[in-house]
Amino acid sequence: MTVTNASQAAQAVGWEAPEALLRADPELADLLTGEAARRGESLQLLAGENVTSAAVLAALGGPLIDKYAEGYPGRRHHTGCSLADAAELLAVDRAERLFAADHANVQPRSATSAMLAAYAALLKPGDVVLAMSLEHGGHLSCGSRANFSGRWFDFIGYGVHEQDNLIDLDQVRELAKLHRPKAIIAGGISYPRHIDWAGFRKIADEVDAYLIASAAQVTGLVAAGAAPSPVPYADVTVAATHKLLRGPRGGLLLCTAELADRVDRAVFPFTQGGAAMNEVAGKAVALAQAGTPEFGAYIRRAVDGARSLAAAMERGGARPLTGGTDTHLVTVDVSPLGVTGVEAERRCAAAGLMLGKCALPYDPAPAAETSGIRLGTGAVAAQGMGESELTEVGELVTSLLSGGAESQVGARIGARVRELARAFAGG
Ligand SMILES: *Cc1c(COP(=O)(O)O)cnc(C)c1O
Repeated sequence: MTVTNASQAAQAVGWEAPEALLRADPELADLLTGEAARRGESLQLLAGENVTSAAVLAALGGPLIDKYAEGYPGRRHHTGCSLADAAELLAVDRAERLFAADHANVQPRSATSAMLAAYAALLKPGDVVLAMSLEHGGHLSCGSRANFSGRWFDFIGYGVHEQDNLIDLDQVRELAKLHRPKAIIAGGISYPRHIDWAGFRKIADEVDAYLIASAAQVTGLVAAGAAPSPVPYADVTVAATHKLLRGPRGGLLLCTAELADRVDRAVFPFTQGGAAMNEVAGKAVALAQAGTPEFGAYIRRAVDGARSLAAAMERGGARPLTGGTDTHLVTVDVSPLGVTGVEAERRCAAAGLMLGKCALPYDPAPAAETSGIRLGTGAVAAQGMGESELTEVGELVTSLLSGGAESQVGARIGARVRELARAFAGG
């Protein structure tokens, strides 16, 4: 793509390199223009990605970016914090109302940092934790040996049924009774169905364990009432503001009044220093937007669209896990189409369909290859796509993957993807 074409494509998604950046760093300005253009010419179907709203971007780039504000409103280490305090209280109050939570902490810099703080609030190193195994869809922060979680705690993994790929609460109960964990974690990154938070709570009570909801993937669904809320059941709920919520990259903790102090101290000073006050401001904006009818309509498009996407891919010969989805997530076995997850990801990316390879539960393929792909409809629903477009996207993916490596199929599908991407680039 030439620089002129790139800046035209970038403008189509509403981004233009500001003068100050062009003058100070034309090299980086070019990279950013290229990235905006890349997004404008392709469809973002990576499950965790979205399109941050313009209002959130304005808050992120606003004056609070320069404010040092260690501590909490009314109890800061730094001076000059009265407006920062007001912004944080606004974000906290909006989060508590939106999720009907006793207490919210809006400072975690990411969902992983929020997980770290949740563990720090409730556990001691060496404690036993029962969580969805990584092979079945648990996040790295749920016991990966490469992550602090797996290094500092003793993780036991529960999984999904081999036949229907649904969470098996009987297995969770059995493991809980056998291992007596200090905490049970419900939730994961690629589970497409609603989670029975009440069922997990019951098991946690039976073994006197804390229940932590790992709910970053579904935060926006819960906000819109499109998925059951973990908040009434979990001791601590770990949420993300950058996924379906369309806010800044960041984490959010919700907890009971009883645990409020422990959770706050686990964020600051235990795991973080000064809060990123511009991100806190951006979270306040996103949390306000999440209460609007427009947000509800976007979430409905995401969920209905995901269902259509799964159905279209099933008609095209792929196998959606659990037979479909309740959420914005579609996890699909592509082995019936004769490709691995890695090959599917590569071929789709070349045609502008940006989705992720995904190891499936009981995946017979090596971890480096995988048999699956995972798609999320958040970003494209935010841009206005709904059921009919996502049905077409599902058809494009499966015809691309079943069409062999012929470049003509790829070229035709790539052209159609670009058309769709351009038509919806402006949101
Ligand atoms: C996305 C996600 C994370 C990680 O979020 P980061 O902000 O990238 O740290 C953790 N857990 C779950 C369940 C997620 O969906």
